[in-house]
Amino acid sequence: YDNRDGVIWMDGALVPWRDARVHLLTHALHYASSVFEGERAYNGKIFKSLEHSERLRRSASMIDFEIPWTVQQIEDAKARILDASGLKDAYVRAVAWRGSGEDMGVASARNPVRLAVAAWEWGAYYGEAKMKGAKLDISRWKRPDPATAPSQAKAAGLYMICTMSKHAAEAKGCSDAMMFDYRGYVAEATGANIFFVRDGEVHTPLADCFLNGITRQTVIGLLKEKGIAVHERHIEPGELEAFEQCWLTGTAAEVTPVGQIGAYSFEVGALTRDIAQTYEKLVRA
Ligand code: PMP
Repeated sequence: YDNRDGVIWMDGALVPWRDARVHLLTHALHYASSVFEGERAYNGKIFKSLEHSERLRRSASMIDFEIPWTVQQIEDAKARILDASGLKDAYVRAVAWRGSGEDMGVASARNPVRLAVAAWEWGAYYGEAKMKGAKLDISRWKRPDPATAPSQAKAAGLYMICTMSKHAAEAKGCSDAMMFDYRGYVAEATGANIFFVRDGEVHTPLADCFLNGITRQTVIGLLKEKGIAVHERHIEPGELEAFEQCWLTGTAAEVTPVGQIGAYSFEVGALTRDIAQTYEKLVRA
């Protein structure tokens, strides 16, 4: 990803893509003092852009730093980079982190907080699996207790177990992994939230120890508009067997049907296809 043409917005300036570098002694690289956003533009417009900019600032404050740019300045930076990219459909990545400077210990109050935004093309997150039903592994890692980590922040440190889970899944021929939480309830995938269907009703884990995704909230709204009951609740592992359909939601994943989780199988049913299409229509509206 580092060797390509284009520009990246860094701390207020557009820099050539290949020159968008940071110093080795960047605090974030050593201590995970970094937060980010994943956004998608459709037809030249970022879906729920403001919500993403607000979440970025909120994630930073949850891990104890303040981004030295306002929501409006972040909005402007994203618009500028999207325009410079020439892309209409793009994935937009904003990232903020504690940089290098006076401090190299755990504390980093004197180092500058940095912000960058890049945009590039990113097709279906689960590639070919997208509408056929993704195959999910079951991760050995549990989403942490909110008293252990700031679980509502989209913070780099929370992704360590996600990367390990996804690598283990891919080694078994799966697209992703489903994670349980610290209590043993179903939580989410490594970069997407999860939904289940049983008897025409929808069940999704209560977002009390993982990211309450913007796509998750959008899809819950769409289901309710369709008059479908949505139960946000704790889901026990023993319930997986009885669910008929399953899908993932996320900015990158959009609505991706799931065909299998470990030994459990799901059909890519009518409701799954319907909600995927409704979401696709909404983001392009
Ligand atoms: N959970 C995790 C761990 C994620 O990385 C993402 C993607 N940001 C999501 C859920 C879904 O969030 P959103 O719908 O806001 O993209």
